[in-house]
Amino acid sequence: MIIVLLGPPGAGKGTQADRLAARLGIPKIATGDVLRAAVRDGTRRGLEAKSYMDRGDLVPDSVILGILQEVMTSPATKKGAILDGAVRTVPQAEGLGTMLAEIGKKVDKVLLFDVDDDELVKRLSTRTVCERCQTPYTGRDPGTSCTKCGGTLVRRKDDEPDAVRNRLEVYRTQTAPVIGWYGDRKMNVARIDADAPVDEVTARALQVLGK
Ligand code: ADP
Ligand code: AMP
Repeated sequence: MIIVLLGPPGAGKGTQADRLAARLGIPKIATGDVLRAAVRDGTRRGLEAKSYMDRGDLVPDSVILGILQEVMTSPATKKGAILDGAVRTVPQAEGLGTMLAEIGKKVDKVLLFDVDDDELVKRLSTRTVCERCQTPYTGRDPGTSCTKCGGTLVRRKDDEPDAVRNRLEVYRTQTAPVIGWYGDRKMNVARIDADAPVDEVTARALQVLGK
């Protein structure tokens, strides 16, 4: 099953993707995580992406489609994948659709996590993430340890107020049209009210997925 998670920054896509991946037994693929690892490792892809990411802009579609091509043709995603933040423009949605069709697959479900801007800003201003496994936390200080892997928690540079403002604008102008694009192709986009406790949002997502 290939599931696309849509929603603004801070909506809880990463949090829910981890839970759904564990529950459904398919991997989470977060392009943001792939890109941050590339930046950390100083690869060519990382060097190309870094300045876009720091500002809160989208990295070029060609970079994302390259990642998706590698990941979706790898044995790791044979049974499916949860794509977290991996489709953020209409050309990315088109490109993903084309590459999946070539290997006899398709996007099975699109979940849209809905949260209002005030709550998003609040969540992002208090988010820390594990620099090793990328798990997000709320209310845990930078420098403390990740309960999952023991890595160090850090603040993300793009969670600073200016970058957050830009990311919300980028979401509205470049990513929100993806919702209509899937809708136009008769893909039922399930809108989930994600301003609720984490367990409740997971339950809503599983219900939509029929699990
Ligand atoms: P995204 O991947 O959509 O950017 P995250 O999963 O990283 O969002 O969540 C953003 C922040 O909000 C994190 O600090 C996370 O711990 C917190 N968070 C996630 N889901 C909820 C929720 N349902 N209620 C409150 N806080 C949440
Ligand atoms: P995320 O971890 O999903 O919040 O992504 C962090 C940053 O990585 C984004 O603000 C973008 O700069 C970049 N990024 C991640 N996924 C994509 C994507 N599908 N398209 C373009 N840029 C992306």
